[in-house]
Order: sequence, then C-alpha cells, then structure tokens
Amino acid sequence: MASFFHTEIQYLPGVGQRKAELLQKELEIFTFGDLVQHYPFRYEDYTQFLKIEEVHEDMLHVQLKGVIRRIEMSGSEKKRRLIAYFKDETGEVALIWFKGLSWFLKTLKPGGAYVIYGKPTTYGNKINFVHPEIDVLTSAHEKRRYLQPVYSTTEKLKEAFLDSKVLARLQKKLLQEATGYIQETLPTYLMDCYKLISKKEALFSIHFPANREILQKASFRLKFEELFYIQLQLLSLRQMRIERLQGKDFQDASLLKHFYDTHLPFELTGAQKNVIKEIYRDLRSGTQMHRLLQGDVGSGKTMVAFLSMLIVVEGGAQAAMMVPTELLAEQHYRDLKKFADQLAISIALLVGATKKRERTKIKAALETGELKILLGTHALIEDNVQFHNLGLAVIDEQHRFGVMQRAKLWQKNQAYPPHILVMTATPIPRTLAMTLYGDLDSSVIDEMPPGRKPIQTRHYYDAHRLKVFHFLKKQVEMGRQVYIVYPLIEESAKMDYKDLMDGYESICRAFPAYPISIVHGKMKPADRDYEMQRFIKGETKIMVATTVIEVGVNIPNATVMVIENAERFGLAQLHQLRGRVGRGDHQSYCILMTGYKLSKESKARIATMVRTNNGFEIADVDLQLRGPGNLMGVQQSGLLALKIANLGQDEKILQVAREAAKHVIKEDPTLTAPKHANIKAHIASINENDTNWSRIS
Ligand code: ADP
Ligand code: MG
Repeated sequence: MASFFHTEIQYLPGVGQRKAELLQKELEIFTFGDLVQHYPFRYEDYTQFLKIEEVHEDMLHVQLKGVIRRIEMSGSEKKRRLIAYFKDETGEVALIWFKGLSWFLKTLKPGGAYVIYGKPTTYGNKINFVHPEIDVLTSAHEKRRYLQPVYSTTEKLKEAFLDSKVLARLQKKLLQEATGYIQETLPTYLMDCYKLISKKEALFSIHFPANREILQKASFRLKFEELFYIQLQLLSLRQMRIERLQGKDFQDASLLKHFYDTHLPFELTGAQKNVIKEIYRDLRSGTQMHRLLQGDVGSGKTMVAFLSMLIVVEGGAQAAMMVPTELLAEQHYRDLKKFADQLAISIALLVGATKKRERTKIKAALETGELKILLGTHALIEDNVQFHNLGLAVIDEQHRFGVMQRAKLWQKNQAYPPHILVMTATPIPRTLAMTLYGDLDSSVIDEMPPGRKPIQTRHYYDAHRLKVFHFLKKQVEMGRQVYIVYPLIEESAKMDYKDLMDGYESICRAFPAYPISIVHGKMKPADRDYEMQRFIKGETKIMVATTVIEVGVNIPNATVMVIENAERFGLAQLHQLRGRVGRGDHQSYCILMTGYKLSKESKARIATMVRTNNGFEIADVDLQLRGPGNLMGVQQSGLLALKIANLGQDEKILQVAREAAKHVIKEDPTLTAPKHANIKAHIASINENDTNWSRIS
C-alpha cells in the first residue's frame, strides 16, 4: 500500500542505480513518492493553436501553425542570423535564430507547413519568435491537445539524459504503475464541501493536465491538502498543549495596577494595553501560555514583558527574560532595574561575563526564590541554573534562538511548565506566521508610542557621497550620533573587511574633528564592548561597523543610519538596521548608499524601504520577492518544505485549509471518528518519513 511510494527510485524501470544517485543528489528524489511530488513548475500549452493576429507580446508561450514563406540570412559576421517569415491566413511573424544557422537553413523548406511554439516578443513593432521550437506539421499535431509539463532539472541531470522530457516520461510510467496504490487522503465530506477532486485525479492531472481548468482543480486540491495537513498538525499540537500542559494560574494583577498607576513613566499605547490584556487572560486561564508577540522595533515590547512579569511575581513565582546578546541583556537590565527598584523587587543580570562570586550569589538567590527576576543571555539556560519556581519565561528576538534552546526553558520548572512569551521584531507575514507558528497564539503591537517621528529614508548613489558627508556633519554638529554600516558576507569576507577599513579611513579623513568608533567581528569581544560603550556614552560620534551592531540596541541620540552597499542587504536586515535609529525625540534618517548598477530586485528592495516604515508591509514584499525559504528565521527552522503551495501566493487557500483543519480538530480532537480514518492514516505515513514535526514543539 503506502509502501509502494516508499520504493526506492532506482527500481523504477528506466532509472537504475546510477541515475538514481543523481536524482537523489540533484533533486532529493529518493523514492517513488518523492518523484510523484516533483511537480512541474510550468506547462507548455499545446491545447490550442492561436491565429497570428491574436498573438501579442504579453503572452507566455504560444503554439501556431502556418507556412514558411521565405528564409533569409541577415547581418554581418558576428550578428549573423537566420530569419524565417512565417504566416497563416491572419498575418505574418518572423522566426529568428542566432545559432545552428546552417542546420536550420538546410532543414526548413520555404512553402512548407510547420508548427511553432515559443514566446512572442516585439522588435520594431513586429512580432518575433527567437529560437522557437519548430516541427513539420503532421496530423499528430492536429490531434495533440495537451499541456506538456516542464520539470526543474539541473545541468548534471541533463548530461545524464534526465531532462524535463525524460522526467515527464518517468512520471507517466510511475503514475501508470501507481494507479492501484493512490489512496484518498481527505474525508469525503471535506472534498464535497470544498469541491475538491480526488487525490488520484489530482496527481494525474497535475502532471498531465488535459486542459487549464483541470490543472487548476488539481493544483487547488494538492495545495489544499498540503496546507491542510500542516495546519491540522499545528492545531493538534496546540490542542495537546492545552489539554496536557496545565499551567499555573496567576489571578492577581494588583501589583501591575499599582505600578501602572504610580510609576509607569508614560501612557501605554492602545496596542500595548490590548496585548497585556491578552497575556493576563492567558496567565489566569489555567493552561500554559504559549504566545508570540510581534511588534516592530521600538514599539515597546520590553514594557509589555515587564508588566507580565509583575503578574507572575505577585503570584509568588519567578520570571526570566532571555535575550540573544550581552549588550542587549545589559541594556534591558539597566532599564528594568529602575522600575524593579521602585517596587522593591529583586532583579539580577546573568551573562557569560558575570564574575564567579556574583554568579554564585545569583544562583543561590534563584534557588531559594529570593531573586524574582533574572535577565540574561543563554547563560540562563545552562543546566546548573536552577529556579525555585519559574512562572514566566520571556524570549526576546526569538529568531536568534534555536528551538532547542527554547525547549530548555520549558524544563526549568518541574512542577508545571512556565508560561512562555516569545517576542520578535522581525515581522512575519500572516501566511507565514500561520504556518510557522500556527501552534502559538499570536499578538501584535501595531502602533508606535506617541511622539515618534517616522524615520525618513533616502537613497543616494555613491557618487553623491560628499553631499551625504555634509549632512552627517550637520547632524553631528547638532549633537547627534551616526551609524555607518558595511555588509559582511562570509563568502567575500576579505573584500568586505577591506571595504570597511577603507570606509573607516575615508570617514576619519572627512571628519578629523570627531572621535570615531569602529566595531567588527574580528575584534576581541572586550575591545568591541569597549568601543560600543564609548558610543553609547556619547564619547564617539560616529560608529563604523559591520552588521554586528546588535538587534535591539537602544541609543536614542543616534539619529542617522547610513547603510553602505545597501543593495547587498536583504529587506529584513535593512529594516532591522534602520530600527537602530528613530528611538528618541529627534528626527531620524536612514541613508541607503548604492552604486548605479542595481538589479531589478535590489531596486524593488530599496524602493520599498524608501516608501514605508511598516515592518509587516516590508515582510510581505520580502515574501513576494524571495519566497518564504529565504526569510529570516525561517531557514533555520527547516519547517517549510512545501512541495506545491506557495505562501506568497496561496494565502486564500491557506485560510480555507486552516478553517477546515480547525473544524476537524474541534469536532474530533483525537481523530478517532471513522470518517477521519484516512486523515489519521495519512498523518501516520507523513510522520513515518519525516521528522520535522517533532522538531517544532
Ligand atoms: P522594542 O519593541 O523594540 O523592544 P522597546 O521596548 O525597547 O522597543 O521600547 C523602545 C523605547 O520606547 C523604550 O525607550 C521604551 O521605554 C519606550 N516606550 C515603550 N512604550 C512606550 C509608550 N507607550 N510611550 C512612550 N514610550 C514608550
Ligand atoms: Mg526589544
């Protein structure tokens, strides 16, 4: 049964051991099942012949039949080309070849009837086909009416004669043999409800569609299935958590109210208030909180975390907050200690650099429960750090932490699982959040504290550097500070360091009157910290750095972020970097420097940055431009091995699939109803082959 699709690919007639090895290496096709799921990425449309008068340049590939009227050679030596004038009863187009001229000259016959297939382009107001496929017209062409699948393949595979056409033949053979083994994976009632075609029909039609309409149905069915099963598993994880993991409930929020009324130095934004309410509801619900809090840089997540900690501390438990770097930990400690002191709540900082004596003291106070709030880096999750009673763990900037590190926090309390709040400033598009964090509850802070002036972003070409320097000078004269950031990509590290040092020198020359800091990854951590501290204290005015400037660093007096070679950064990173400024009352600026030569994508990224400060909008553009696999935080998660659905495009299907999954889990959480037997069986077969799911929780 299912084992048919687990058969190793080498046993498919026509494959054999050598080709199997290549398929594994190049396309990760190990089994029959993997091959079937190597879906075409486009189709050549042989379902119809167009008339020449219907063809225009916006069309993708088209098929025409007609007669070659005349053939000529044109152009001199290097630009030599063969032009064939091809006509039907409605018009004429030119077919152009730059290569294989003599062969075409020999084979093509003026007056002969041909079928051509290619992409129309225009040149001088006329429709052209450059290097079209061409065949002598036969009755077979007249009869053929299908879409030819096109499969992705590689140079190595092509050398071994595994091109798209051969892959198509293998698919056809496999599907013929598979007929008896394809099982329906969705319940009939869902198929009826969402008008889904059967799995068997979908698999045949995705590879060999008879027409566009059936292709559309096949694709919808398979995408639905793929997304449905992801959602179903995420939602059932969530369900399991709710049922099994009883959390401790914290009912009392009077400490929070007291702090709010007497000490809080500003009014919370509406969004912050809403999120606190959501968290408070979780904390007193009796089940473990598992919440993702997204909020753009500067939206005030730290205060939300602190207020949540107060609820837990009042209930007699401890709270911990884990951040990715020492610098950030120190900054949070400085900020929060002020408040904790006002409330006489003990708070401590534990980082790698904490001295042994201090460390021993902290650990002891933690074990007795005397210490209420602990901030730190991953030093927090070391095994010898024992809490008396950990009630809430906050994880800031979560994409820098591995899933395993997060899981270690869970285990810090034997009596009950601590509540978990994961905070991130990397906005995740909705579709992605639903897919990656579909098992977490999610909150969003979508409002900035009042009085913030939106950062102004400008794009300058390198040639206008003097103008930019002039602007920086004026800012520094006004007392402000400036970041200048250089890219550092591992593959070109040597060149990148050279760029950085060259840049540093030229800045020193341009600003002889000002102290300048430089920070990069080749420095000893102690030197780096020293330089960072000088900048934080305002002793240096300009900070030249590679991207080591940490996420979350808060220096309100820094108002300009200059990003050199901005075209080399991804959108998420540009947005993160820009978030280092705009943290105080002064107008802030982000300056993107590039050369004149920009790819289409770089242009789109830069235009997006100039147009908007909204992290979610940026994340959406990023998703469109790059696809989900490349987004920050997603790559490491290894969760997005989608075969057919595309989170950039299939948001509607995702929503429908999630609704369906919700419905199923609500009605039958354990999937034991007879009508859900094939769901249960399918999940078992997915898990047999795939360890992804155990990795999320
Ligand atoms: P992030 O969400 O990036 O972690 P922070 O928590 O560091 O943002 O907050 C950025 C700054 O805004 C801090 O200095 C913080 O004290 C301040 N802040 C937070 N909430 C408010 C508010 N409601 N009104 C005014 N300032 C606020
Ligand atoms: Mg923060």
